[in-house]
Amino acid sequence: MAEKHPTASLLTNSLHHRLLSLPIANKLHFDSESIRAASVDYGLIVREIPKAVLRPSCPEDIMTLVAFMYNESSIPFTISARGCGHSIRGQAMARDGVVVDMTSLDNKQHGTTVSYSQSLGHYADVGGQQLWIDVLEETLKHGVAPVCLTDYLYVTVGGTLSNAGISGEAFRYGPQINNVYEMDVITGTGDFMTCSPEKNSELFYSVLGGLGQFGIIMRARIALGRAPKRAKWVRMLYSDFSAYTMDQERLISRHRRDQDEALNYVEGFLFMHRNSDSWIPFFSPSDHPRLMSLVAEHELLYCIEVAKYYDDRTQSTVDKDLEILLKDLNHVPEFRFEKDVSYVDFLSRVRVEELELRGRGLWNVPHPWLDLFVPKSRIADINTGVFKNIALKRNITTGYVLFYPLNKNKWDDRMSAVTPDEDIFYTVEFLHSSGFGDWQELELQNKEVLRFCEDNGIKFKQYLPNYSTEREWMEHFGPKWRTFQERKAQFDPKMLLSPGQRIFNHN
Ligand code: FAD
Repeated sequence: MAEKHPTASLLTNSLHHRLLSLPIANKLHFDSESIRAASVDYGLIVREIPKAVLRPSCPEDIMTLVAFMYNESSIPFTISARGCGHSIRGQAMARDGVVVDMTSLDNKQHGTTVSYSQSLGHYADVGGQQLWIDVLEETLKHGVAPVCLTDYLYVTVGGTLSNAGISGEAFRYGPQINNVYEMDVITGTGDFMTCSPEKNSELFYSVLGGLGQFGIIMRARIALGRAPKRAKWVRMLYSDFSAYTMDQERLISRHRRDQDEALNYVEGFLFMHRNSDSWIPFFSPSDHPRLMSLVAEHELLYCIEVAKYYDDRTQSTVDKDLEILLKDLNHVPEFRFEKDVSYVDFLSRVRVEELELRGRGLWNVPHPWLDLFVPKSRIADINTGVFKNIALKRNITTGYVLFYPLNKNKWDDRMSAVTPDEDIFYTVEFLHSSGFGDWQELELQNKEVLRFCEDNGIKFKQYLPNYSTEREWMEHFGPKWRTFQERKAQFDPKMLLSPGQRIFNHN
């Protein structure tokens, strides 16, 4: 690493000194363990060392820090809110700046409150620092739950609302950003603002999907629905790509948000021999031999995963409803598998895998993930060019490969998040989990995938995007880029916030 310029080092020392003069000095941590923890993330690919870590106990602590940085024009240091650091490529890091450890905010004081109103029905005010699992646990006490939850619940409200928050529930309710009524945000000038579609709407739409660029989310008011008790959890295997996509698109187009009898969740994956560790645990051991032989026969299988939730009221009709919903699907005969689990167990499915991987020492390893949104019209090209000609040939893909469609009309284009310009787009996510040695090889595969898309004019968008040049960001945001820049100038004019995204801070 290059030596620091002497002036930079003076400035850094001066920052340290002046931070200590603030009333939050006792909440600022400079010790090596705090610094180390804030220098890494789930991806274990990037390392950026901050100057300090703030462990706030209330929003005022964060306001003090941001206002100080904003007003100190001589000190161009940055601030990054950090949820759990479940980012892949340093998005929650702040080189030489201050990382705000959001999880130190008290969940009791800044936690979940469930309310009801005529116009909104049940809703909850939740802390930006909260894990979705904590939100879920609290709402369940009231018989309600967030309408759209991520697959993995040990990520924070502020972290997922900065991206979008997608899962198999998003086809029906839209991503999590589409289910927010109001937020409290601390902007890059240190101001505390409440925003909604009616009040400070520019800030509201900026922050949702805004990659942490416009403010720190302290509270979000989110939509809730009646909590079910159990889930019928079904997986169906396809060897025929067209049959798979046709059925997927039928499934996501059939349902309205308020329909009781509709499916609640639709996702899909690729099954290959090489990544069987990820998908096989769902199935009963007695089915493993026939599954493995089907994979060996076709090399690549597609799996639709759906869930239908139910409770005491719908228990007697759920099986019939499910049969109607899945009628006439063209999966491989005899390759439909069903489980009946509690709602919470269904939502804990990735957590179960996490604990299992932790037990084998395979959780804290590099994760060179690649997440793309691909327009429906080009998905057959992805099948041939990426799944068959890259992933199958290279034969190094480990971990899940998610592959399922989403409805564009469930996304609000006024928000910062960007999606392809077609009614339906697919999420294609290589959730690579590497051993310690081979992540660079997986990264080469990612690059080959991106090159294939670019060479073939596939107008994809990255989810959890990662770019390093302004030109790439301009292309990513497309027609929204100018608005994104203007909003940045308005809400974070000194470009203090979330430098790890490398949108405005290219140092
Ligand atoms: P961090 O990684 O800490 O932060 C992410 C970004 O948000 C940073 O730029 C940070 O500065 C900013 N930020 C954090 N908190 C705030 C705040 N309060 N206000 C403003 N900005 C903030 N994503 C999905 O959509 N669906 C999934 O199903 C899903 N599953 C996942 C499973 C696993 C195992 C992992 C590791 C990730 C998964 N993700 C999923 C991705 C996840 O949404 C992102 O990693 C996201 O960034 C949330 O992680 P985090 O809360 O740890 O945020």
